[in-house]
Amino acid sequence: MTAPRRNAARAASRADARAAAREAALKAALDEVRARCAVEERRAQDPVSFVHRYTDPADQELVALLAASLAFGNVKALRAKIGEALDRLGPEIARVADDPPAVSARLRGFRHRVYQGRDVAALLVGARRVQRAAGSLGVAFAAELSRSGDLRQALGAWVRAIRSAGGLDRRPNDRGAAHILPDPEKGSATKRLMLLLRWMIRPADGVDLGLWPVSPAALLIPVDTHIEKLGYNIGLTDRRGATWKTAEEITAALRRFDAADPVKYDFALCHLGMLQQCPSERDPARCEGCGVKPVCRYWEE
Ligand code: SF4
Repeated sequence: MTAPRRNAARAASRADARAAAREAALKAALDEVRARCAVEERRAQDPVSFVHRYTDPADQELVALLAASLAFGNVKALRAKIGEALDRLGPEIARVADDPPAVSARLRGFRHRVYQGRDVAALLVGARRVQRAAGSLGVAFAAELSRSGDLRQALGAWVRAIRSAGGLDRRPNDRGAAHILPDPEKGSATKRLMLLLRWMIRPADGVDLGLWPVSPAALLIPVDTHIEKLGYNIGLTDRRGATWKTAEEITAALRRFDAADPVKYDFALCHLGMLQQCPSERDPARCEGCGVKPVCRYWEE
């Protein structure tokens, strides 16, 4: 081998060693963040906690849909609003959802951000009709997924079925009706839908419930502001913005550490983001104690 070739081979091998070391450090940091997460304490702050108050799977998946759909904005405010909607509906959500006038009456006057009571009522009534027709919302979603083999198409078809069954699609120019159950084929990361899928599909672990007959390998990470920031800061993606593409890239990176269950890191990472209030810059005070600091781009030498 000539000297220039020998030098190039050495440089390539040093680069490979650096990449392998970074990969190992990234996995170690992610596993550590997961291991250190105070799951019970954090679950109590998370909208998924509402789903755990119910025991009937039919109620659980309807409550999950409602809670995920209302999960935007300030976490304290959105938890109060989810609680208010559920209090109005009473303890047997599926049974009440069989009676559209009763749902409308109970939710009359409800408001959260752009949503009004009639948007939540149409969501619940439509979801209940799809649930009854298929046996469960999970079976309906699994059927769409096995038909198309594509998460986005399956979710789009599932969303359209609920929107149509509840009449949300009859108000195309109404912001609340459009936003409460968004079309994933329009390009956003549809964080709230991905959150619902994670809760329903990932194996039961005290947070997620493992109710739907779908492999967790099919999931994409819900990209909220915390995951978007952390995903970029630790090099899981170079993209900015909560788009479907960003969700795909972050999930593809996490698949390197667990191909069967890549989204298992989401809960702990998201709650780390909430607690840390990440400044996305080298800030010794605010970065103190951050579990991903060893692999954060702002702290790499
Ligand atoms: S080390 Fe600091 S900048 Fe980096 S992810 Fe953590 S909080 Fe954010």
